[in-house]
Amino acid sequence: MAIPERFLDEVIARTDLVDLVSESVRLTKKGSSYWGCCPFHSEKTPSFHVVPDRQIYKCFGCGKGGGAINFVMELENLSFREAVEVLAKRAGMQMPESVGPSADARQRREKLLELNRQAARAFHSWLYSPEGAQGLSYLQKRGLSKATLTRFGLGFAPNSWDALIRELGKQGYDKRDLLDAGLAVNNKDGRIYDRFRNRVMFPIIDVRGNVIGFGGRVMDDSTPKYLNSPDTPVYNKSRNIFALNIAKKTKADRVILTEGYMDTISLHQAGFDSAVASLGTALTEEHAQLLSRYFKQAIISYDGDGAGVAAAQRAIPILEKAGLKVRVLRVTGAKDPDEFIKKYGRDAFARLLDKSENQVDYRLDQLRQKFDLEDDTQKVAFLQEAAQMLAGLHSAVEREIYGGHAAQTAGVSPETMAQEINRALKVRLRREKKQQERRDLSPASQMQPRSRGLRYENIRSARAEEGVLRLLLLDPDLLREAQGLTGAEFSSPLLGRAYDRLKARAEEGLSLHLAALAEEFTGDEMDHLAQVAAQPESAANARQAMADYIAVIRREALLRSSAGSGDDLLRAAQRRYQEKKAYMEEKP
Ligand SMILES: [Zn+2]
Repeated sequence: MAIPERFLDEVIARTDLVDLVSESVRLTKKGSSYWGCCPFHSEKTPSFHVVPDRQIYKCFGCGKGGGAINFVMELENLSFREAVEVLAKRAGMQMPESVGPSADARQRREKLLELNRQAARAFHSWLYSPEGAQGLSYLQKRGLSKATLTRFGLGFAPNSWDALIRELGKQGYDKRDLLDAGLAVNNKDGRIYDRFRNRVMFPIIDVRGNVIGFGGRVMDDSTPKYLNSPDTPVYNKSRNIFALNIAKKTKADRVILTEGYMDTISLHQAGFDSAVASLGTALTEEHAQLLSRYFKQAIISYDGDGAGVAAAQRAIPILEKAGLKVRVLRVTGAKDPDEFIKKYGRDAFARLLDKSENQVDYRLDQLRQKFDLEDDTQKVAFLQEAAQMLAGLHSAVEREIYGGHAAQTAGVSPETMAQEINRALKVRLRREKKQQERRDLSPASQMQPRSRGLRYENIRSARAEEGVLRLLLLDPDLLREAQGLTGAEFSSPLLGRAYDRLKARAEEGLSLHLAALAEEFTGDEMDHLAQVAAQPESAANARQAMADYIAVIRREALLRSSAGSGDDLLRAAQRRYQEKKAYMEEKP
């Protein structure tokens, strides 16, 4: 059962967006609205805007926007229903009792989490049973202590098609449940069997302590060597980070990013309790955002092989964008941190961490390796590429320091390098200025939604459609002036749908807050609707403005429908429009 509209309306009415946002963002009043640093992207100067009289927020940096409900959805990563629950509780309201898909979904989630917990227990106990002997000996050979095995809840999946299915069956779970949790798979014939077989098992635990998935390392030569849970209703691999549940409690202010389970666990055992790993996927922006909630600095500690270097190069800008200071660890004399610690001890590794390179030096060094600096032509090429890279640094001090490093590497004077960087910087600034000018010259493109899927086909009509929406949000009574306009007449399907929804709400006597649309519109769509709502619109002359907008929408719709059907029709349409316009201008 959906949340009753009246209840939703009451929740929205009792929520003041400025108060709500203030709980997580420091807002400053400027004129009639508020500004602060955006909670959805990292920034130092405020571009996050809250408009109290429209109850909307809009970030001019990352584009996120909407009303109170989406704010909570985005900030806490919740579903529509969960966000309404949070707001209702905050407003001292009792959620209506309901059975139905949403309540079901929540129960399903809880059931999956409990199932995962039971599976983790079963795996862990198998590790110490005869079936798990091979797994235990593997982990012991890797030097893991019993305390570490317990701390990370490591386990073993027996070499059997249905050990887990039978074990959890005893607790009342059926095969379907295991399929949902990603713990079982079915083949073409519909036979359902255990996904993880003959593998050492690593439970993946979220920051709240729930077991949300598993990784398994195979004991024989079969592939893949590491198998992870698929995405399920409780596990999303681009959002979760292995061992963050433990690392978030560290006293260290830097997180150590490794490539996998074993690296992470060995580092923890050696006392580096801020090690984590992203799993089964390259580092995503969501991972970086999550890390930036707990840490200021990230040390990338990937393998030194080609794949590791490429992954590090990819991760650097993602982490920097999330506001983390990035350093890159270079392990010498061993293939990975695990081997290094075993060979040289933990103190040597701690020194290595302290010496880890700033990411600029790291990138310079990667660049140098592409050139033979004995050869003059290649030396020049290296210096030019380095100058271009360093010209991208924002601070002059940084450009000077790293310019010095590059100069030293190539054996030229720092002054020469500085000149080269300045030249590259000038070219860069000129290019950026040109791009800016081009953007300024095409205001139409500025109006376009950020998301490509929502692009306007007809800018002139879309401008008017946006105007109609803004007016309705300002004053729902203006619907009486809408001359029977429907969303089908709009050129933008998104704006048309939003109009129909607002109209339907108004007809039911419900409020016209943007927040109420959060359930039916996607995040991208809400971002754009908030952008539309945040534009200035005068309430003076609103009736006339409404009539003008509608005239534009109808004329453009006519032109669209007559396109390709001959000039006569087009002229007729234009004539009708002129007549109508004249008629409307006569109206008082
Ligand atoms: Zn933002």
